[in-house]
Amino acid sequence: MIRPLRFLIDLLFPPKCCFCGKIVFTHRDDVCPACWDTLPELSGGERRLDAMQKWQPPAQRAAPGFDAGATQPLDGAATPSPTPALPDGMQLEAAVRCVSALRYEGGVRRGFLRYKFSGDYWLGEVFGEIMAGVIFEALDGEFDAVTWAPLSSRRRRKRGYDQAKILAETVAERLGFPLVPTLIKKRDTAANSSLTSAADRAPNVSGAYDVLPDAANLRLLLIDDILTTGATLSECARALIDGGAESVVCAVFAEADGT
Ligand SMILES: [Zn+2]
Repeated sequence: MIRPLRFLIDLLFPPKCCFCGKIVFTHRDDVCPACWDTLPELSGGERRLDAMQKWQPPAQRAAPGFDAGATQPLDGAATPSPTPALPDGMQLEAAVRCVSALRYEGGVRRGFLRYKFSGDYWLGEVFGEIMAGVIFEALDGEFDAVTWAPLSSRRRRKRGYDQAKILAETVAERLGFPLVPTLIKKRDTAANSSLTSAADRAPNVSGAYDVLPDAANLRLLLIDDILTTGATLSECARALIDGGAESVVCAVFAEADGT
C-alpha cells in the first residue's frame, strides 16, 4: 500500500495489540511489547510449549500398565511411556501428541474471542505465526502436510470464516508445507463451550467428521484453535488414521484447563 495512505489509515484507525487492545505504533506491531513479555508460556521472550497425551484410543484406556494421564515432553528426554498394543496402522505416539502455543487465559482468551466472534479474521494470521514458531521447535520433521479441524459448512457460512483454517493456512505458509483439506464436518455439534466435561464432549463429536481421500498416506499436522478436553482433536485424529493417514500430530493456538 502507498505509504501516505497507510499512515492516514493508521491515524484514523489506530492498530491495536491483539491481546490487550492497547494502541500500537504500526500495523507491523500486532503484539505490544508488554504482552510479548507476559503472555502465558511466552514469558521472557522464550517460547515454551506444553506437550501432552490428551487422547488414547478408547479401547486402550483400560489397558493394563498404560497410564492414561501420562504426559511426555517433546524434547526426547522423557522416560518412554508403556506402549499398549494398538490396532494395525495405529501410531499412538503420533496420534496423541499435541503442542499448545499458549495458555488460554487473560489476554490470550480476550484476543481469541475477538478473533472468533468479532469478525477480526486477520488476527488468525498473527496467532498462526505464533503457532508456527512453536511447531517448528517441537514438531519439525514429523509431518509433511498441514490440515485442520473444520467447522461445519453451516457454521462457517454463519461466521464467514473458519478460524482453524486461517491458523492452518498461516502455519503452512510460514513453514513451507502444503495445506491439505482432509476432513468434512458433516453435522453440527453442540458448541463445545456449552459442554463442560470430557464425558459430554466425546459423544458430541463422535462420528461428526468424514475423511477425504487426500488424507491417505500423509504424515499430517492437524491444527485446531483451542484445546479443552481434546475431544474434537481426538475424534479428528482417529478419523484421519482410520481414513488412511500415515500419522497425525496436533497443534493448537492455546490450551484451556478442561481436563
Ligand atoms: Zn498487548
